[in-house]
Amino acid sequence: MATVERTTFGNHEVANQPPPLVDYNVYEADRVLIEAVRREGAEWAEARISEVGALAGSERAQALGALANENPPKLRTHDRYGNRVDTVDFHPSWHELMGLAVGHELHCSPWKDPRPGAHVARGGAFMCMSQAEAGIGCPISMTYSVIPALRTQPELAAEWEPRFLSSSYDPGNAPAAQKAGGLAGMGMTEKQGGTDVRANTTVAQPVNGGGPGGEYALTGHKWFMSAPQCDAFLVLAQADGGISCFLFPRWTPDGERNRFRLQRLKDKLGNRSNASSEIEFDGASAWLVGEEGAGVRTIIEMVNHTRLDCVLGGATGMRAGVAQAIHHATHRSVFGRELSEQPLMRNVLADLAVESEAATIAALRLARAYDEALAGDEEARQLKRIANAVLKYWICKRAPMHAGEALECLGGNGYVEESGMPRLFRESPLNSIWEGSGNVQCLDVLRAMVKSPASVETFFAEVEEGAVHEPRLQTFTASLREELPGDLETIESRARRLVEKMALALQASLLVRYGDEAVANAFCASRLAGDWGQAFGTLPAGTDFGRIVDRHRAVA
Ligand SMILES: Cc1cc2nc3c(=O)[nH]c(=O)nc-3n(C[C@H](O)[C@H](O)[C@H](O)COP(=O)(O)OP(=O)(O)OC[C@H]3O[C@@H](n4cnc5c(N)ncnc54)[C@H](O)[C@@H]3O)c2cc1C
Repeated sequence: MATVERTTFGNHEVANQPPPLVDYNVYEADRVLIEAVRREGAEWAEARISEVGALAGSERAQALGALANENPPKLRTHDRYGNRVDTVDFHPSWHELMGLAVGHELHCSPWKDPRPGAHVARGGAFMCMSQAEAGIGCPISMTYSVIPALRTQPELAAEWEPRFLSSSYDPGNAPAAQKAGGLAGMGMTEKQGGTDVRANTTVAQPVNGGGPGGEYALTGHKWFMSAPQCDAFLVLAQADGGISCFLFPRWTPDGERNRFRLQRLKDKLGNRSNASSEIEFDGASAWLVGEEGAGVRTIIEMVNHTRLDCVLGGATGMRAGVAQAIHHATHRSVFGRELSEQPLMRNVLADLAVESEAATIAALRLARAYDEALAGDEEARQLKRIANAVLKYWICKRAPMHAGEALECLGGNGYVEESGMPRLFRESPLNSIWEGSGNVQCLDVLRAMVKSPASVETFFAEVEEGAVHEPRLQTFTASLREELPGDLETIESRARRLVEKMALALQASLLVRYGDEAVANAFCASRLAGDWGQAFGTLPAGTDFGRIVDRHRAVA
């Protein structure tokens, strides 16, 4: 029976409008995430993740997320007396959300408490918190990711790491040494090239001879530098030895404002709570991290971790969309019948749920590869090398289509800001763009095939573990192997098709082994065996729609 909510208001009864999906624990309500967290080695962290889940689903946090987007950050270049301040003013809702995320150590927990499963634990909590607001994920993720790159230069790490590992959120615009905690950003993209960072024109001049850990003066610009309120950034610039990585702090060690100007904040499609700036360096002080000329190799340690967060972020958006779509369809009747009971809507909801489950399972499996690789496991390192690019490409690529369809499940309400769905939709293309856009991920997979052939074998070994139980996956994998590498003349133009298939094979392997049986079956029938249409809602008729929808329901 359909649940019909009735409220008397004005000259008519408000009927058949669903209650808002708030005040629930987004972790406890997510069976797929719970299972993945336990399976991938972070059961010990469940109480903590659940705390974040309760917070993120609370009416308060949901309202903060909306407020932070309705009141985007403002650039303040000067104070009232005309002195340059180059700062950003945020709405209090942003600060409150940041305080919650930092307080729960989403920006640092695996480095602070590096036990097995630490990256999975943090990934699970990050997925929960991002359901309150995804925009804060940017500085949180960059701070989490800066640590391995920073460790390339131990004396800089010794100075800065304690600030980044602090669980105190201190938004003050003051020298880092005077603050209770610090956050990190990164600046690679310039006007003439984002993907092609080797085209960077920002110049770094040594101050006292330079060298690893030495001081340089930066002159140039960055076209995108998000979260410019952070305390320090890893930036790329040209030194005599080539493109190099520098730590650029907002304030110099002698307590002066560093020599930079924030030029503009970007007026973005989504991610509006977060500030993304254009910046100019005017002889700014910065310290070399690693060797001159090793800039890409050094900063890639940071990018490797932000890319994991893009995968987690893509999966999170899908989970949020499915939760909202099922909730709405359960509380809304059309033609006298609950929407979630209508066969065609059940197909749409189930198809969205299948995509979401595949994304979550794969994202958390990837997080485990980070844990194991950092512990010295070579196979995990190889898997992470290739699976990160494969999954970043595919999960982030699927996110906008998924968000659009989830939005439509709410009908007209889904198109209206109050529902939160437009925000989800606007955010959805971003994870695919930053940290290496779709094509770049596919090209990176090709690079891994050439430079780390072992990563391909490790990848297929992981796929094989599921294929032995599922003939459709066996057939699919065999045809994929035949295409690899195939005609080398055409391999770049075929890269998206190859990487898409690799992602599907990996997701299927994980679902077959660990997912719900009905979900795994629907995934293999549709995504592998081709019994599917071009839009969501086209799963084959024999699918156990009810079981899949029930599994993904946020609140019973
Ligand atoms: C909201 C937001 C925040 C950002 N924050 C930051 C930040 O904090 N720090 C930072 O450094 N950057 C940041 N970026 C920049 C982002 O990382 C770049 O925009 C992205 O890497 C793409 O670079 P580009 O814009 O120069 O595009 P291009 O490099 O010009 O790429 C354009 C398109 O071409 C494709 N492409 C590139 N090379 C090839 C190829 N060889 N073959 C086929 N296709 C190719 C790409 O996939 C892309 O789709 C941010 C971007 C956004 C949107």
